Amino acid sequence: MPEGHTLHRLARDLAELVGSEVSATSPQGRFPAEKVDGLRPTGVDAYGKHLLVDFADGVSVHVHLGMRGKWLRFAPVTGPGLPQVRLRLSSPAVAWDLIAPSTCELLDAAGRAKLVGGLGPDPLRTDSDPEEAYRRVVAHHGSIAAALLDQSRIAGVGNVFRAEVLHAMRMPPTRPARSVAVAEFAVLWSRLQVLMRQGVEDGRIITVEAEDRSTVPEAESRRVYKRALCYDCGTPIVTGTIDGRTTYACPRCQPHWTE
Ligand SMILES: [Zn+2]
Repeated sequence: MPEGHTLHRLARDLAELVGSEVSATSPQGRFPAEKVDGLRPTGVDAYGKHLLVDFADGVSVHVHLGMRGKWLRFAPVTGPGLPQVRLRLSSPAVAWDLIAPSTCELLDAAGRAKLVGGLGPDPLRTDSDPEEAYRRVVAHHGSIAAALLDQSRIAGVGNVFRAEVLHAMRMPPTRPARSVAVAEFAVLWSRLQVLMRQGVEDGRIITVEAEDRSTVPEAESRRVYKRALCYDCGTPIVTGTIDGRTTYACPRCQPHWTE
């Protein structure tokens, strides 16, 4: 599933439509594109794993990609878009086609505010308050791993960033969220910012050292996530399941937590 870096990169790229009068269509017929057809986007924003294309009059298109969704860019524009396209936003120069999202809906200003208000602070947003993220994470009754995936506590972290940042912090996934000290969380937050900002730049998640980041094979791009051996120390990676999601950790780098 795409994590926050994917949405922030898309928001940056889709911003090329801002200010232009866009044609909106739904070749698939499952989105009321006529409601925004001919309007000018005023901004494109990402909050965690959610993308918002804002138009004048407080109308927004809210997109969540889910497991399979993607945006495809076409420049120059050729043809009207394939029949599986949920939403096409196009200017004379470029078309952006949305395929297979889990959510693509119109929101009014109140709906937008409700969506954003339900999300925790996003490490990729400059308006996020890390102290608020800390309060929400330590209030979780379960593990730090579960708290990091709870989008209402911290937004944009998925399974890959979770595994990699916990490894970087030398924290086992099972450590109780409430045991994390404020100073530790400050480091965790800043590491997440570094990892996720790099992900926006790379267009993928690479946490290993690399001279040429464009040539790192997918299977060798992380330190613990889906690896057999820890990148740092060579110890076999241990997997587990927390709230139905697989955890990846190095038992040597991330020793068992005892209070
Ligand atoms: Zn290790």
